Amino acid sequence: MEAKNIKDIKDIQLFVSNMYPNTDRDFSYIFSYTARHIGYLGKSLNQRRPSIDEFVRTTSWIFALANKLNIDIENALIERHPGICPYCVTIPCKCLETNKKPYIDIKAYNIPQELTYQASVIKLQGSITLAEHAKRLAAIYPGNAYIWRFSGPWMHTSKMQEELAEVHEAATRFFSQRKNLNAVSEEFSDLLAWVLSAWRISFPNEAIDEQFISFYLNGCPVCGKKTCDCMLYSDSSSQLVEPRIIEELGLLFLQLAREVGTSDFDIKEIQKSLSKAAETQSEPVARTALLEVKNKTTEIERLVERGAGNAKNIATIIEAIRKFFDSFPFM
Ligand SMILES: [Zn+2]
Ligand SMILES: [Zn+2]
Repeated sequence: MEAKNIKDIKDIQLFVSNMYPNTDRDFSYIFSYTARHIGYLGKSLNQRRPSIDEFVRTTSWIFALANKLNIDIENALIERHPGICPYCVTIPCKCLETNKKPYIDIKAYNIPQELTYQASVIKLQGSITLAEHAKRLAAIYPGNAYIWRFSGPWMHTSKMQEELAEVHEAATRFFSQRKNLNAVSEEFSDLLAWVLSAWRISFPNEAIDEQFISFYLNGCPVCGKKTCDCMLYSDSSSQLVEPRIIEELGLLFLQLAREVGTSDFDIKEIQKSLSKAAETQSEPVARTALLEVKNKTTEIERLVERGAGNAKNIATIIEAIRKFFDSFPFM
């Protein structure tokens, strides 16, 4: 399965299972990374800087987790939300009015039959995409987009955490044979529902399915292989400043400062900050040190505009420094 051939949910699930066979990673390992990315996705949403890559990474981990349990994701999503709300059994959802009880006159034992019937109608149409499912969810729960519009993404981000917890609980109950796989599938569907809803609100004109193609076009974004060969815990850092970055940036900055003839005092001060950041590996120290480098680089750029130093060398170094900062959206 090539990334460029991804079209629908079945393709994504197959692609993720080929890319990450995870034979040496157990449920808890994959769950911990899923939790990390749900957290980071929530952070990017709360900061009003939704990241396409973080959505793809998070969804990919959720798929890998579902693969570990052999859950058919497309089937799970359709059966959980077959165009109607599974609690009030209607569209748009009237749970607020009914306190999560059926809005229509229906006996509890008939609810599964009604949901299965609605699901079978959708299944007749063939495979579906995540974008199609997101659209269906938006029709069932129009209130979610209103809440976001008037009070921000807080409900989505806390619901994602809540559903993640429920996935964990359902899975542990499945492992201890107190719940069947169907109950776990429902929790997965709920978790994905909130992620997809957040996606649709953040990127109304884009299909998340297509983003898998660009994200994985050249193989695993970390190791570059067709089947991920990354070592355990060798994930790339997306939020924390790594010592390697500080060291490399420090060297570039030194080159730049020498090229322009920045005062020794200024260079020494920034070098002190950078070595303290490398020594302590403390995030606040690292961020402040990087900010000092960033500000000084801007200052140097102004000097260069006035004709200081060898413009060509300096432009190359500054471009390299910029690349470092590009990997830190928070800077
Ligand atoms: Zn409802
Ligand atoms: Zn890899």
